[in-house]
Amino acid sequence: MTQHLYVHVPFCVRRCSYCDFSIAVRKHVPAREYLDAVLQEARRGSNVPGELETIYFGGGTPSLLPAPAVGRLVQELTHLFRVPHSAFPVEITLEANPEDVTESNARAWSGAGVNRVSLGAQSFDDRVLAWMHRSHAAARIGDAVRTLRTAGIDNISLDLIFGLPGELQRDWARDLDLALALRPTHLSLYGLTVEPRTPLDRWISRGATHAPDEARYADEYLYAHRRLSADGFAFYEVSNASRNGFISRHNSAYWSGRPYTGLGPAAHSFDGRTRRWNLPAWEAYRRALADGRSAVESAETLTGEQRELEGLYLGLRTAEGLPLRRLPASCGNRWVREGWVTVTEDRLRCTPDGWLRLDSLVQELTRLGTPQLP
Ligand code: SF4
Repeated sequence: MTQHLYVHVPFCVRRCSYCDFSIAVRKHVPAREYLDAVLQEARRGSNVPGELETIYFGGGTPSLLPAPAVGRLVQELTHLFRVPHSAFPVEITLEANPEDVTESNARAWSGAGVNRVSLGAQSFDDRVLAWMHRSHAAARIGDAVRTLRTAGIDNISLDLIFGLPGELQRDWARDLDLALALRPTHLSLYGLTVEPRTPLDRWISRGATHAPDEARYADEYLYAHRRLSADGFAFYEVSNASRNGFISRHNSAYWSGRPYTGLGPAAHSFDGRTRRWNLPAWEAYRRALADGRSAVESAETLTGEQRELEGLYLGLRTAEGLPLRRLPASCGNRWVREGWVTVTEDRLRCTPDGWLRLDSLVQELTRLGTPQLP
């Protein structure tokens, strides 16, 4: 069995207008306290079986950590968890804000073993970036990609957000063209959602902006499928597309239901049956570990039925799809007629239209219950 390690770095310099993640807004990252806490947690949980296949530094903004702190984390974690002696290197991803990709940071990350960077680009339009409260300017995205390549990190993913309010007049086709011109290996496309108590939610409540428009959301999502396919990308998950050989091995582990270990505030872990999650607030997490207590806030053990439904949901999310026998025939046939899924070699896979209504397909399955497996 392989191990997948997620390390949550909760710090951000400000809160983006749409973000409801568990973050700690800090001008200066308390790197020493963070390292002490995460490494203490890792030592408590490092006796998990299997060899390490991936490490993913997500956030928050992991690139705000001083580069030597990233190096120390990689070194200690690969020491604590077993690393395979195979030619297939551990995939080590760092989420980065384009602002933080300086020559010295990129060289240090590469030297520490980081071999994949996920850049929070979001848009190439400065007006849109300002509306999102992002801290980078559009021109920094291309600079960051070039700097990473010079430092030897070629496996670069770009995050983009679509489905923005119409009054912003965001040019989605232009943003996709500019992203593709940078020749990333991977793209993650997220539709804007309005989460309670975010600045965006407040703007909408007082009429300063409009909720994202469903038709625009659908048009932009379907356009991205056409545009990216024409450029040699394949969607392997509802929000993720890659060039051949560049899927995210870490995120694919989540989507195929494999076990993973999470470190840091709000991080989740899963052993195949039980999911547990850490205290979400940085201070509460830090204090728990400093006092020698567990940082786990709570846990749930999935019933057989919950595991089955979760397996169906994860299967529908990915291009792997599901074996046809796992679905009630009544919905499988109708979904094919509607053009939401295709069936080849006894597997059912969502089309882009199906992925657009993934939640309602899953709700339908939940209502119907699932067929008994042989
Ligand atoms: S950088 Fe990411 S985690 Fe931080 S506030 Fe923005 S969206 Fe949230």
